[in-house]
Order: sequence, then structure tokens, then C-alpha cells
Amino acid sequence: MTEAKNYIEANKERFVNELFDLLRIPSISAQSEHRPDMQRCAEFLAAALVEAGADRAEVMPTAGNPVVYAEKIVDPSARTVLVYGHYDVMPVDPREEWHTDPFEPVIENGRIRGRGADDDKGQLWMHAKAFEAMCATGTLPCNVKFMLEGEEEIGSEHLYDFCREHRQLLAADIILVSDTSMISMDTPSITCGLRGLAYMEVEVTGPDKDLHSGLFGGAVANPANVLARLVAGLIDRDGRVTIPGFYDDVRELTPAEREAFNRAPFDAEAYKRSLSIGDVEGEAGYTTLERTGVRPSLDVNGIWGGYIGEGTKTVIPSKASAKISMRLVPNQDYRKISELFEKHFRAVAPASVKVEVRALHGGMPYVAPTDMPAYKAAEKAIEETFGKKPLPFYSGGSIPVISGFESILGIKSLLMGFGLAEDAIHSPNESYGLDQFYRGLETIPLFYKYFAEAE
Ligand SMILES: [Zn+2]
Repeated sequence: MTEAKNYIEANKERFVNELFDLLRIPSISAQSEHRPDMQRCAEFLAAALVEAGADRAEVMPTAGNPVVYAEKIVDPSARTVLVYGHYDVMPVDPREEWHTDPFEPVIENGRIRGRGADDDKGQLWMHAKAFEAMCATGTLPCNVKFMLEGEEEIGSEHLYDFCREHRQLLAADIILVSDTSMISMDTPSITCGLRGLAYMEVEVTGPDKDLHSGLFGGAVANPANVLARLVAGLIDRDGRVTIPGFYDDVRELTPAEREAFNRAPFDAEAYKRSLSIGDVEGEAGYTTLERTGVRPSLDVNGIWGGYIGEGTKTVIPSKASAKISMRLVPNQDYRKISELFEKHFRAVAPASVKVEVRALHGGMPYVAPTDMPAYKAAEKAIEETFGKKPLPFYSGGSIPVISGFESILGIKSLLMGFGLAEDAIHSPNESYGLDQFYRGLETIPLFYKYFAEAE
């Protein structure tokens, strides 16, 4: 692999300049005025992948933004890696908080600044260029396919159908994804778990109209009071969700997994300070890292009802509502959890009110087994370039499409991201460290090498 490494060393400045051209395309998927930019960005990537050495690359239409597909088959009997990434970016608002034009990238203090610098153009560009390095030096040991979508930031709506329609084309041994972060450059990590999501909305109705709280107060159920009581009852004093059956399918970490996970550096005092909170709160018996990474949770995301205008209005509202989300962990199924929630919420509601419960949307949790060959290969590759064995990391966030890949294509994903918290993805002044970019570039060919050799 020294050939690929030397090639990268000799060409790395050009790689950054090319990335700048990619960053200049304002491919904001959330805003329809950027529709032509999505097409332009997809064409840019398809052309770049052919130039890098792909046998073929296509801009494939979907009902939404196109998917870029490319492949290079070196040996039909070799392992196949499917690289997934996304070329769409988040809107730039608030624009005035950017120090420079979000779509005119600059390098400052060793960091590339611009929208998409990390998420996910910078990260996917490492894959395109590592691929080029392996092609140019004749050291590509696996077949490679690329699937780059333009709708990740708006929910990957059309990618599920794309996967269903192209199962054959997308067949692979592993999906390789760089769209996550590491703990730090000194503490490299591989994301091996993502939480799922079940999102509910509840409406509690009391009397059929708003009532005078003097004439009726104390005699009629107040939906706002009842809703507050019901919501508060969803979590007990130990921080556990009270919905019967909620924890039935939760996969408990083994003591060894817990030990490995909690080795990640975590400063509780700094955490509290950064959030201006007096103390943390959560499920008894678990650390904060565990609470956000491997334990399920339930939160009210919004709650409303009654008079909220200026001054006073003495009223018993007819209705009160709340939006409630539950973060799920393997092996909880969001459909089952949504049903359990609904059943429980109806069961605990008093006869004095009517309740309506709706499931708004959901996604499955994902876990990458740390004993799968791709994980082992990534562990070795990262250990070689970072000088330290990476820690397994469980992220509290969700990338719903990852569990979609598993259910539709039957392929596991390896989340080998090189982002850092300070990259400020989705925020003003998003950036990506040149050292992260180069280190990622160096790591990827090693991953291919160890994955090709793995048992
Ligand atoms: Zn992303």
C-alpha cells in the first residue's frame, strides 16, 4: 500500500483544490431553487469518478434528486465494497453568522471552511480520491461501487425505492460510510451503533369547547392538567420509561462492551458547563455516555394548549397536545414501540377525557457487530494511521437510511467517519481539518487491503 500512500502524498494538494470545486456547488436539497445545482453536483461527481478510474459512472434519476452510481470490478470473485455518501448539504442560515461565503471555501488555521466541508462532501471526496490512488497504482484489492445520494439531509425519501429497484446492481459485502465523527484525533473511534426513533403526537380533549375556569374549574377535567399528568407518568423516578413492554427487546451490552464503551473520555463537569445545567438526569445505573448511546429515551418535543397570549384569560381549554419522541436502541422496532405507546397512553387516560394518538414517523436503530470482518479491517487500518486502536462508539443520533440498507439490501454498514465535533456540521462556519482529510485518505486504502485479506 506504500504505492497508494506515495501517490496520495504527491497529489494531496490537487485533491483539496478539486474538493473546493465540489464545495462551490450550492447543492442545498431543502430548497427547490437549488434543483439545477443538485443535477450539476451529481454530474460533477460522476465525471470525477470516471476520471478516478471507475469502469462506469451514471447519474441515475429518482422521483427526487439523482443518485450517482459508479463501479469498478477488478475481480468478480473478490470482495465488493459499496461506498455510500451524500452530495446534498444543509441550508446556510443564518447567513450573517458565516465569516466567509459558505460556497467559496477557504483554508484557515489548517481547516477547510465551507458548507459541506465535512458533511458530507469532504468525507465522500476522501473516498473518491483514495479510490483514484488505488486505481492509479494498481493496488485496488476489492471491487468498488459508489452510491452517492442527494437527499440525505431531507430524509433520503427516494433512496429506499432506488435500493429496492437496484438490489442486484448494489450487491456488495459491506457498505462503507464516512458520514459520522470520531471522539477526537487522539481518541479515534468507529461508530458501531445508531439509535432509532419513534415519533408520536397526542391530543387530549376534555369539554367540547373552552370553558370559564371560574364556573367549571374543579368540576371538569382540564386537558392541559391531564396531559401534563400523563406525560409526567411516562417516566418514573429512576428515569425509566413506564410503558409496559418498552424494554423487552432492548439489547443489553455485555460487561466487556460496557467497559470498552465507557473508556471513551468524558468530562462530566465540562459537559454540564457546556450546557449550563446544574446536573445531569437519566436512567439510574447508567453513565451519561450509555444514556445517550445505548439506552432508549423518551422526550417531549413540544407541548401546547389553552391560552398562551399576553396577559390573562381564565379558561379551561378544550384540548391540549404534545409531540413525543422516543430514541430506540437495538433490537427495538419503532412500529412495535409506537403501538405499545398508543396502547399505554389510551389505557392510562381517565374517562373524563378523550385521547387521540398518532405515530408521525420512525426509523430503526442500527448496530454494527464489532466482530464482523469490515469492523476488524477498519480497526486495523485506523490503528495504523492514528497509532491507536479505535474505540467502538455508540452515537445517540440517527441515520435512518443505514438501517434501511440492512432491511432492503441485507448488507451491513461500516461507519468509518473522520469528522469531529468542532467541524460544526449543519451550523454556520462548517469546517473540516486538513489533517482529518489527509488521515482519512491514508486510512481508506488500508481498509481495502485488510478487508480483502480478512477471513
Ligand atoms: Zn451527512
